Amino acid sequence: MTTLNLQSRQTSELIDLTDEIRAAAASSGIREGMVLVYTPHTTAAITINENADPDVITDIINGLNQIVPSQGNYRHLEGNSAAHIKSSLVGASETLIIAEGKLVLGTWQGIFFCEFDGPRRRKVHVQVLGA
Ligand code: ZN
Repeated sequence: MTTLNLQSRQTSELIDLTDEIRAAAASSGIREGMVLVYTPHTTAAITINENADPDVITDIINGLNQIVPSQGNYRHLEGNSAAHIKSSLVGASETLIIAEGKLVLGTWQGIFFCEFDGPRRRKVHVQVLGA
């Protein structure tokens, strides 16, 4: 397992990890397999989406803020229920395919760490499986 240590800078932010995940897959030496990208936090997530036009990321953050308002009829006393809900909606992990030694991603796809309750220090675990 490889662990990436991140420092988010904003309350809500998507951080592109594509290069780091590609490097972890390449250094494993695995030709045919999978990569699990997992974050062990309850107010963060992992997603795959477009990393060409940065407006897409802004629109994802704004769209999630519309679906899950920061203020609501929440009971959790820590006051960050919206971040917990976004974490569950987006999910804590993504699984990718390695074929012929390379990560299989579409032309416009990137792998993002999603911060919903920053700024904080965060971890992302990367496990490569295969042969
Ligand atoms: Zn909380």
